[in-house]
Amino acid sequence: MLTKSFRSFLLAGIASSLVLSACTRGDDNVTFDQVPPVLQDVAPVGQLPDGITPTAYRLDLYADPAEDAFSGQVEIDVTLTEPHARIWLHSVDHDVSAVKAILQDGNELEATFTRSKAEGGVSRLDFATPVPKGNSTLVIDYTAPYNFGLAGLYKAEQNGRPYLATQMEPIDARRLVPSFDEPRFKSPWTLRVATRAGNQVITNGALKAQTTLDDGSIQFQFATTREIQSYLVALAVGPYDLRDGGVLPPNGIRAQAVPFRGFAPAGKGDQLELAMAITDEMVTWQEAYFDYPYPYGKLDLIAAPDFAYGAMENAGAIIYRESRLLMDERTSLARKRQAMTTHAHELGHQWFGNLVTPRWWNDIWLNEAFATWISYKTMDAVYPNTGFDLAAQRAAIGAMDNDSLSSARQIRNPIARNADILDAFDSITYRKGGGVLSMFENYLGEDAFRDGIRLHMRRFEDGVADVDDFMTSIADGSKNPDVVESFNSFIMQPGIPNLEVNFSCPAIDAGLITVSQSRYAPLGSSIDPNGQSWIIPLAIKMNGANGERTVREIFTGQALNIPLDGGCPDWILPNADGAGYWRFDLNEPAWQSLIVNYDALAPAEQLSFADSATAAFASGNLSASTLLDAIAVNANGNWAAARDPLANLKSYMKALPGTDAKDALRDFVMSAYGARWDQLSARPTETLSQGEQLLKTALNTSLLEIGRMPEERARLAAAAAAYVGVINAPDPAALTPDLVQTAMAIAAKGGDGAFFQSALRFAQSTPDQRQRRQTLNTLAEHGAEADVVALMDLVRTDAFQGQEAWSVYLAALKNESAGDATWEKFKTDFDLVIAQTPEIRKPQTARLVASFCSTAKIDDAIAFLELKSDLIPGYERQLAQAAETAGLCAAFRAEKSNELAAALIAP
Ligand SMILES: [Zn+2]
Repeated sequence: MLTKSFRSFLLAGIASSLVLSACTRGDDNVTFDQVPPVLQDVAPVGQLPDGITPTAYRLDLYADPAEDAFSGQVEIDVTLTEPHARIWLHSVDHDVSAVKAILQDGNELEATFTRSKAEGGVSRLDFATPVPKGNSTLVIDYTAPYNFGLAGLYKAEQNGRPYLATQMEPIDARRLVPSFDEPRFKSPWTLRVATRAGNQVITNGALKAQTTLDDGSIQFQFATTREIQSYLVALAVGPYDLRDGGVLPPNGIRAQAVPFRGFAPAGKGDQLELAMAITDEMVTWQEAYFDYPYPYGKLDLIAAPDFAYGAMENAGAIIYRESRLLMDERTSLARKRQAMTTHAHELGHQWFGNLVTPRWWNDIWLNEAFATWISYKTMDAVYPNTGFDLAAQRAAIGAMDNDSLSSARQIRNPIARNADILDAFDSITYRKGGGVLSMFENYLGEDAFRDGIRLHMRRFEDGVADVDDFMTSIADGSKNPDVVESFNSFIMQPGIPNLEVNFSCPAIDAGLITVSQSRYAPLGSSIDPNGQSWIIPLAIKMNGANGERTVREIFTGQALNIPLDGGCPDWILPNADGAGYWRFDLNEPAWQSLIVNYDALAPAEQLSFADSATAAFASGNLSASTLLDAIAVNANGNWAAARDPLANLKSYMKALPGTDAKDALRDFVMSAYGARWDQLSARPTETLSQGEQLLKTALNTSLLEIGRMPEERARLAAAAAAYVGVINAPDPAALTPDLVQTAMAIAAKGGDGAFFQSALRFAQSTPDQRQRRQTLNTLAEHGAEADVVALMDLVRTDAFQGQEAWSVYLAALKNESAGDATWEKFKTDFDLVIAQTPEIRKPQTARLVASFCSTAKIDDAIAFLELKSDLIPGYERQLAQAAETAGLCAAFRAEKSNELAAALIAP
């Protein structure tokens, strides 16, 4: 699965207040060998009891998108290790009309169904006579409402037409069907689905037969799948456009052709073309990487009319958010790259996650970290020289803000409750996890690491594996067992290693590098820097009398001395290849020598330099004047490095006291980046690499905001007015896709009421859902106070979805020109807004605290949210992290803004 953004959420409709002891009592009426674990009388929390295993599902459904409920019968073949009169399984919102077990001898046992109030819909079947040891079949008849919160089998409308789609991961397959809904249970699934004529039906298996029933509905019979876990089951029903992609032809790894299709909401089928065109190349590359044929017989790509995540890797039937699959000539380069990367991620899951599955949710991180990592490898292979060689490092750096918090989560977390499962899909899992895998691939070598992955696929095909199994495969495949301890030190504790590295020359021909490690802690943090340590695959690059070389060593303990022959190096870069998941810090002379020799660094090393320099300033270890020197030299580095400090510069602008300091920062930004901008903007786009195009867009946006480009601002504001149709009809050609959002923000900031109203009409009429939401949020964040307050009322009406109201309210809190009015209105309308917000968004509301940077406002926001905590269940981690982020912002301003101002004004 790929999250839309990084979030955790609590499942809709579960009673979360019931906390049960892990220790459960047996039933007094049964003999001891029947008691634990199955026949317990208290609903299990976390995993279902052992002793019963599902071995096959046959699911028969009637599902018409025009209705509001569906009906089904499921047959589940099960194996019991002992006789049991009570069976626990998962079921949410099902109205069960009949339950029985069919025994091997053909006899049937009736049962009663009791829906439990326990977390996660743990429910029970009670048989008057115990179901005997061995094989039998459970048969359950039921009806259920469609979900309207994008979970389980859910209904969503687009352009007035109803559609069905599924999202089961992590624990919503239990909404579709009563089931043993845990990843460790893998079994074949056979679906038969009837629906009203005129609808497409897509699921994991290939279509085998289609029959018209007496009532005119159409019944679709699908082939039985390979063994899959319940969260990979997929179903889509509705008037989807179909694009037949023929087959993915056989290749050196796979003898069979794979039938290939794409589906999109009605009218959008043509937008499937770009993703479908690259699919064969991606699959072929991944088959070669895994040395294993694509496992699932056919492949369907489905753009859902609405979707909670980025995409979901259902075996052979991947479902995407529209914006992650559908593209056309108006799609910006950045969004195309994002969509293609999502596609590569979901394809990678077909092996890692689907063919080989985590045993339990505590290892879902490995699933997602691996898919993230291989998506970048795949992109770099199918689109060479487009900057994806730096993607894993950029993603890892992107996780470091979160990983700098004292409340950061370790990659591999224990999972005891459902709420913990949902917490596990965050930036630590995807980005840090992917970065850590990349670090160990760099350490072991590409071929040795790949040999470990291939071994893992063969060892556990169609089965489950935990992180220890994975590490054993990597150690065996790469023939390097030493890696395990180091790997564990990165996944079993939170935080970023901070390496303090310096060099000296005890003798004319002898140098000495000293290294010490601590945990990175920004100013204002409660982290104890010396409270933990890592086993680090250290790599330090240097240049001196003996030429350029890299020292590699496994660094354990707190400090390390590395003696050097040949005297002092001229400079050292304590993250060779930029592959290490750590930050480094140097003394001022060592930073200065690195700044002077910046051009000798490889692109990934320049990126590491940029991240470490801004981080060292934020932790109080680097002076403002050296930071500015570092940013200035880095502005002419490779595209990714040059882009890295732009977000920091924007936050410095907000932090600086007074107009003189802000003006001085504008001067600095123009002197550092102005020449780079002139150079990039003078060249025709087709001569720029993709990285340079991305840098150009980022520079354009940044220089408009924190540099000096008044004429360009005026030009873009006029273009935005034409784009949304202030005077004439909207003109899509008025803005290039890369600049739409920037131009809209500039125009909205101008406070022109005519623009605001035209942009609002534009948002409500565009068929592009993403553009609609983005425009609404941009207006809320940048519009004039009275307009924004009116917009807040408007989005609570029927013309808008609940999710849109929620995001407009949160965007309005970031509006700097609107003063306190939006915050007061937010508080007044809170109960109404939350009541119409989808369940999965409610706890994320707590993130609003991170929009603030003053202690009084932070405290006010925390107190308000705690007062309203009943309305946003599961908010605790979100609030803790947002409050800490806000507190760090306030501490940085208090401790660093004056020093920065002085360095800018009097360089
Ligand atoms: Zn994923």
